[in-house]
Amino acid sequence: MEPLNELNSIILNNTIPNALLFTGSYGYEKKMAAMTFAKIINCLNRKSASESDSLKRAAQSEFVPCNQCRSCVKIDAAMHPDIITVAPEPEKSVIKIAQIRELCSATASMPHEAKMRMVLIDDAHAMNQEAANSLLKILEEPPERTFFVLIAKELNDLLPTIISRCRHLRFRPLSRNEVAHKLIQQWNIHPSVAMIAAKSSNGDIDKAMMFANVRQNSTDITDNRVLSVAEKSLKSKQNSETDWINRRRWLLNQLLMLIKPSQNSASKFLSALVLAEKLSKEALLIDDSLTLIKLLFRDMALIKYSKGKNYHIDSDCIVNSDIVNAMSDVVERFSDTYPVMALESLHRVETKLRTNASVRLMLESLFLSLIQGTDSKNVSYPQTTADQMRA
Ligand SMILES: [Zn+2]
Repeated sequence: MEPLNELNSIILNNTIPNALLFTGSYGYEKKMAAMTFAKIINCLNRKSASESDSLKRAAQSEFVPCNQCRSCVKIDAAMHPDIITVAPEPEKSVIKIAQIRELCSATASMPHEAKMRMVLIDDAHAMNQEAANSLLKILEEPPERTFFVLIAKELNDLLPTIISRCRHLRFRPLSRNEVAHKLIQQWNIHPSVAMIAAKSSNGDIDKAMMFANVRQNSTDITDNRVLSVAEKSLKSKQNSETDWINRRRWLLNQLLMLIKPSQNSASKFLSALVLAEKLSKEALLIDDSLTLIKLLFRDMALIKYSKGKNYHIDSDCIVNSDIVNAMSDVVERFSDTYPVMALESLHRVETKLRTNASVRLMLESLFLSLIQGTDSKNVSYPQTTADQMRA
């Protein structure tokens, strides 16, 4: 059963387990599901979607929170005293026993106002052995009117004794269309932007939201407190300070300029060094920037190899559908081997960046090799008017 349907049937049958375990690759979906679940259970105006005209869903009883009652509003505002979140401490990747002990005393008394108190343990795999054992004791003798939701990436990351105490729900990765649909429906993102963001993120809703400039704190269900502090500082750095829609446009433009045939190699080399310098200063953004660059070359490889052949590529395969013409223009002048060479160089750089290689030097050598590839002897460039004027 799909996790959301399963949660729905738990509510329908009123059989809330002591502990739920959500696993799956991406965090946002699971946290949102947990918060929505807590909201529905505690909603003071609980109603099923079939009764609600505004939500024209299937006729089956699908529960939704009212989002207006005192309980819903408090949960949305991260002010509900009975929604408790435990996550790794800031700058650390471990949940320590002290945090679980604190939790133990916090849940010793009855919930303040909730029908059911929720304890959300985010990055549950980050519990060290002591913390996990301590949690196990709580799960064995659960506090009154309390349920636990543990969130982890993989089942294997947790102690079997913990897993056996939980009802396990697996969140599968979303398809690109589902991600795009969510961006459009939930955050009103323009369909073309949503599609590019969904494709660029390969189904990772967290990333897709970032690429579509969705600010997490402006959403309804997202509870800032649910994010670990480390994650929050990273997210806020990426989300609030970076306009990824513009950044993508700028970055791809820079790359196209670099590899565009032109006689003026000197200025291209200079641009390559400047770009490497700039990107290397934004350490937190480097992985996602490289992803965008890789997708650009992947698209260009697709365009190059499908051109003039009998098969044609489905436009759905192209990620950067908004710059197909610009890519096609550049691609025409490539040698057949260039896109493959470029992708290989990118792959090498990514691998090296995982070691302690200097980011700036790696990027410099990447961009220079991309330029040199376009200048190889088997490609001839027509001189542009601008070049002739300069010459
Ligand atoms: Zn409500």
